[in-house]
Amino acid sequence: MSHPPPGTIRPSDGSRQTPVPQASREAVREAIEAGRHAQRDWARLSIDARAKTLLEAGRVILADQMAGCEVMSDETGRGPTECRMSELASTLDYVKGAIRAGRAALRPERIKLSPLDFPGKRVVVEQVPRGVIGIIAPWNYPVSNFYKSLWPALLAGNAVVMKPSEHTPRSGAWLHEKLAQALPEGLVTLVQGGGEVGQALIEEGVDSVVFTGSVPTGRRVAKLAAERLIPASLELGGKDAALVLADCDLERTALGIAQWSMHNAGQNCAGIERVYVEEAIADAFVERLGKVVSRLRVAPGDGPTELGPLQNAAQLDLVERHVKDALERGAELVTGGERTGSGYGYRPTVLDHCNHEMLVVTEETFGPVVAVVRVKDAKEAVSLANDCRYGLNGSVWTRDYARGEALARQLEVGVALVNNHAFTGILPETPWTGTKETGTGVAASRHAYHGFVRPRTVLVDRSSKPDPFWFPANDDLQAMSLALVERSQGRLSALFRLAGLLGKRVKAIQSLTRD
Ligand code: NAD
Repeated sequence: MSHPPPGTIRPSDGSRQTPVPQASREAVREAIEAGRHAQRDWARLSIDARAKTLLEAGRVILADQMAGCEVMSDETGRGPTECRMSELASTLDYVKGAIRAGRAALRPERIKLSPLDFPGKRVVVEQVPRGVIGIIAPWNYPVSNFYKSLWPALLAGNAVVMKPSEHTPRSGAWLHEKLAQALPEGLVTLVQGGGEVGQALIEEGVDSVVFTGSVPTGRRVAKLAAERLIPASLELGGKDAALVLADCDLERTALGIAQWSMHNAGQNCAGIERVYVEEAIADAFVERLGKVVSRLRVAPGDGPTELGPLQNAAQLDLVERHVKDALERGAELVTGGERTGSGYGYRPTVLDHCNHEMLVVTEETFGPVVAVVRVKDAKEAVSLANDCRYGLNGSVWTRDYARGEALARQLEVGVALVNNHAFTGILPETPWTGTKETGTGVAASRHAYHGFVRPRTVLVDRSSKPDPFWFPANDDLQAMSLALVERSQGRLSALFRLAGLLGKRVKAIQSLTRD
């Protein structure tokens, strides 16, 4: 089915928007060059100085939050309050946390060397910025998706080229405009456009790429980065499961699962898309979940609404295809299952009696749809939850915290939770990561720095004597090598032999320079 060009339709009412021009290859090259130029001075600053500037950038973003929420709301159809809560409210806390995590990741490491073996030597491992980082983002959280990589990359002393999704170019442009007001000229640049521009960004010379998006595109990005021998952090899709055990707090569980399956109309990489509920409480759970979900309102509406529409026509098609497939294969519609409003709105949907034959259980839906699968016990729930290509978040809902924790650890995921889901995404000090086709990337936390820095070993030798293993080879060198092996095996006598050999070896080495 053909759709209007990305970023040209308002999802809330279907009205047209003026297209945002795509960057040429030349413009991509210039953006990288500007970053490379600005990065040299930026990298020379102390971490404290860079942190201060980043905090200032956070304040500039918040000072214009009203306008930012309007731009995002217009482009995604979500209400401004929802945009503020999901994307902007935690900006300054996020920057502060990213600075704390960054200080731990970037601290130079002094390596201890034995003064007997390595006299006069001092060695330190330091973290050097890679240069210019390309960040390629999806459309689902058009501002905060940048945060996980943008702040750590800059703190580490890099420049950044941002490429927002072609579906949400204006939100990306707004963020860039705010950053540019606080940061040195050229340090963060912006290129607009679709896949071609993303590809050009990698090909034209960034030093590392952070990609967040779908699995097929992630594979393409991985190949392009491998060709150029640069690191690629890949944060890809999800199909998160929640395991609802018979001893859970039914009311809180229904509310929590409604929240994390419908948040951002389910357009959340860590949205709960599958629920495995123990048969004993399945009827009561589905009844409560259905009640909560049927009360959620879709924007545009009078006053606040819980959900926006789907962001684009292709996403709406995909959601409808998944629901239709499930119903044809025997799922039961509890609530929702239809479009609403004049844009891309879709009623929040609960499907019961689902199974692993259905697309809604096996493929990422990325919409306001939650599939309930009834299971006989927790063991079956874990096994079915793990029968999945993806592994981002997984949660267990139970009053028995210890058992819940043990079961959560059995889930093949990057983030395992008990009685909650997804919200660690706003914590800058915990890794956001997954298993299997969710990709190899680690976003946020001190563990995210591989793509932003490379280690550099620096050794300074203040010894006035040559090292005892230098040329020439002689019998004493052979005796020394044997003594070294013996010492490594814990034989004390070897230590005394070594001490005796050292002086002789140094003399022999120095004799090479004498007449
Ligand atoms: P997408 O793969 O279609 O596009 C993502 C970005 O890649 C866009 O900016 C796009 O222009 C760019 N792109 C497309 N082709 C490219 C190419 N050949 N080279 C370089 N860049 C290219 O994904 P989407 O539809 O925008 O986003 C939805 C997906 O993102 C979902 O699968 C969702 O689960 C995932 N996601 C994952 C996380 C996470 O943290 N794991 C977070 C948010 C979204």
